[in-house]
This record gives sequence, structure tokens and C-alpha cells, in this order.
Amino acid sequence: MNPLLTLFEITGNPHGDPEHSIGSSIRFGPRTQEVLCPGCRRPGIKAKTDWNAVVSLIGEDAKYFPDVVGGFHHVVSHKAYTSLHNAGCNGFVAHPVDIDTVESPLLHRPFPPYYLLEVTGRVDIDRQLFDEGEGTLCEVCHSWSPKKGGKHRYGDKVKVPLLNTWDGSDLVKVRNIGSAIGYCSLKVVNLAIRDQWTDFGIRAFTPRLPKPDLRKPDWLDDLATAIAAKFPDL
Ligand SMILES: [Zn+2]
Repeated sequence: MNPLLTLFEITGNPHGDPEHSIGSSIRFGPRTQEVLCPGCRRPGIKAKTDWNAVVSLIGEDAKYFPDVVGGFHHVVSHKAYTSLHNAGCNGFVAHPVDIDTVESPLLHRPFPPYYLLEVTGRVDIDRQLFDEGEGTLCEVCHSWSPKKGGKHRYGDKVKVPLLNTWDGSDLVKVRNIGSAIGYCSLKVVNLAIRDQWTDFGIRAFTPRLPKPDLRKPDWLDDLATAIAAKFPDL
């Protein structure tokens, strides 16, 4: 199995009008604290013990409540949650969240129920392809930083999941190199297509491959062709 045809980055919908798109701002409960990493002294390790989050939906011109709210966190509608649950998808804990404000005047109360997905599935990525082992990795929080004057910088680098480290979850984050990006299995992509989740989109796991057009029945074949041309050794 080609690793780049197994797991995919979750993004917003690439086909909707960006003006009408919707994002979220999330406030976690008071017991959630941001602390300094004891390994590298960088801020940002979240001791997220309180998932009683409150969500604001951002997007002045949003015309509808989407099934997948774009942005940093995974916020999904009851419909998307039900699809995932009924299909037996795993790798997450779904926390019901309250929507308290909505920016768009076109969207009215009562606001529909949403869930914040805490992604628990994990996979490692190939360190050799990522930076040839050149940068520094914090052993505690897995933050990566480049070697001074080295070849590999911050920004897009080759990311290929190591399938023998994948716990098999349908929703995953990267374990060995810190990143906020969430990924999903092909099963989730097929569910989203079948159940017509609004505002769901994907990118390939690694950057700089064409963005799949999920409206096309042969999107996976198109992606396979692009991957074979760019990464013939995978
Ligand atoms: Zn650290």
C-alpha cells in the first residue's frame, strides 16, 4: 500500500466560495493551561484537561452551517459525527461544544449542535525524508527546529507516514514530529463523499501534490498518478 494513498490531510472545502467559508475560534475550559515544555522551554504544550469548549463561528458571509468547520481544530456537525460513529471510525473522542456566537448575520439561532474532535490516533513520519535527521527534535514535545545554516528550514518538507507505526485509527496526528495538522484514513474520505459532508476537503499527506477534487469519481487514481511521478520510490 502506498503510504501517500492511505492517509490524507483534512482541509476546508476547496470548491466553495472562500468568501462564504466558515472558521472557528475555540475557547477551552478554565482547567486548560498552556505551559512551558520542560524539554525545550517553548510555550505551547497544552494540558488540555477541560474539553468544555465554547466555539465562535467566524465568517461574515457564511450562508449555511457546514458539516466540517475549517481551521485549526476539528469541529463537525451532528451529521458528520453520526456518519463517523455509525461507520465505526476511531481515533477520536467527540466532545459536544456550545456555539455561542456566529459572525454571519445570515445564520440564526438556534445554532445546530457541533462536536469538537479530540484526535487520539497516531502515526510517525519518515524522519529521513523529512530532514535527513538534520534538525533538532525536542524529546518531550517533539517540536522540530532547523539546524543553523542547514539545508532544511521551517516550512513545507516531505512528509510520508510510516505505516508500520500507524495505530490504524481513522483520525490521526503525527507522533514523532510536532504538528497541529490532522489527517484521516481513506475510509473517512469515502464516508464524507458518500454522505455529502459540506465543506470537507483533503490534501495529500505531503505538500506540493495537486489537491484532490473529490467530486471526480477517479480522484484517487489522479492522485496516484501524481504521486508516482513525484515519488517513484515509494
Ligand atoms: Zn519541547
